[in-house]
Amino acid sequence: MSRVYNFSAGPAVLPEEVLREAADEMLDYKGCGMSVMEMSHRSKVFDEIIKEAEADIRTLMNIPDNYKVLFLQGGASQQFAAVPMNLMKNKKAGYIITGQWAKKAVQEAKMYGEAVELASSADETFSYIPDCSDLPITDDMDYVYICENNTIYGTKFKTLPNTKGKDLVADVSSCFLSEPVDVSKYGIIYGGVQKNVGPAGMVIVIIREDLIRDDVLPGTPTMLKYKTQADNDSLYNTPPCYDIYICGKVFKWLLKNGGLSAMKELNEKKAAILYDYLDSSKLFKGTVRKEDRSLMNVPFVTGNEELDAKFVKEATAAGFVNLKGHRTVGGMRASIYNAMPIEGVEKLVEFMREFEKANA
Ligand code: PLP
Repeated sequence: MSRVYNFSAGPAVLPEEVLREAADEMLDYKGCGMSVMEMSHRSKVFDEIIKEAEADIRTLMNIPDNYKVLFLQGGASQQFAAVPMNLMKNKKAGYIITGQWAKKAVQEAKMYGEAVELASSADETFSYIPDCSDLPITDDMDYVYICENNTIYGTKFKTLPNTKGKDLVADVSSCFLSEPVDVSKYGIIYGGVQKNVGPAGMVIVIIREDLIRDDVLPGTPTMLKYKTQADNDSLYNTPPCYDIYICGKVFKWLLKNGGLSAMKELNEKKAAILYDYLDSSKLFKGTVRKEDRSLMNVPFVTGNEELDAKFVKEATAAGFVNLKGHRTVGGMRASIYNAMPIEGVEKLVEFMREFEKANA
C-alpha cells in the first residue's frame, strides 16, 4: 500500500488512524455482525453512534446548551437556500462577498428576498477580506452572512464582522474544527464535512435555538425547515449514517490529539512552513494579502502558466497530488487540513525548493 500526500481542497485527506479503524469495523461493528452502512438508523447501536458524535462535537467546540447540532444531507450548498428560507422573516439580509461560495450563497438568497451585498473583495480577485468594521447594515436585516474561510482564494476572516447586533451566519466548510471558535458569536455555523471532518455527503449545522422557527418562508420544504430536523434530532428521515459514524471518529481523534487549541497550533505551524517559503521564494508567490491568509488553503503561482503546469505534473509524479489551483484562479493550491501531517508540508516545501533550483 502506498498513500500519497493529498492536498485536495475536498473531498480531502482524513486521519489514517480513523480510516484504519473504520476498515477494521467494516464487516462487524463492535460485535453486532454488520457494518454501520447496513444497520437501521433507528437501532440502538446507531443511536449510540449519533449521540456520541453529537456529545463529542459539543465538547470539541464548547457548544452552548442553547444551540442545536444537526447532521444533514444536501451538502453546504443546500444551506444557501435553507438559511434564507428559515431566517428571512423581513425578507432582507446582508452578505459579505469574499469568493465563489459567498457569491453562490447570495445568488440563492436573492431568490427568497432582498440579499444586500454589504462588502466585497471582487475588485482584487478576492485576494483579501474587506474591512467589516462599519458595514451598511440596516435594522430590517434578518442576518449577516459570511463565508469564513474561502477555499478557492485562500482567505480567512481573522476577526468576525461587526454585525451591529444582527445574527451572524457563517459557512465554515473549509475551516471547520481547525481552531477554537466562540459559538455564541454566531446565529448559525454550518459546514460541509468533506474538507476537514469526514466523507462527502453531510453538512453539520449548529444553530441557536431561537432561530429554529415555525414561521419560515411559505413553500419551504419540510426537509429544509430547521425545526423539522431539530424536533427529530436529525432523524426525521434516514440520515447520512455512515458519514455521522466517520465524523464521530474524527471528533474522537481530535479530542485525543488535544482538541481544537492543539489543532490550531499545529495548523499554524504547518501553514507557516509553506508561507515562509513562499515569502522567500523567487519563483513561487502567494496570492493572498498576508494578514488574511487561510491556515487551510494556500494558493500560489509562479506567474507562468506553463511552469505552473510543469510543477503540478512533476509534483504529482513525486506523490504530492491535487495541487492544481481552482479552475477560476489557476496556479496551485495546497489544502493543508487537520489530517495533513506536518511531514507532508515539509516534504512539499522541500520538493518546491528543488523545483525552484531546477527551474531558476
Ligand atoms: N462552501 C465552501 C466554503 C466550500 O468550500 C464548498 C466546497 O465545496 C461549499 C460551500 C460547497 O459544498 P458542498 O459541495 O457540500 O455543497
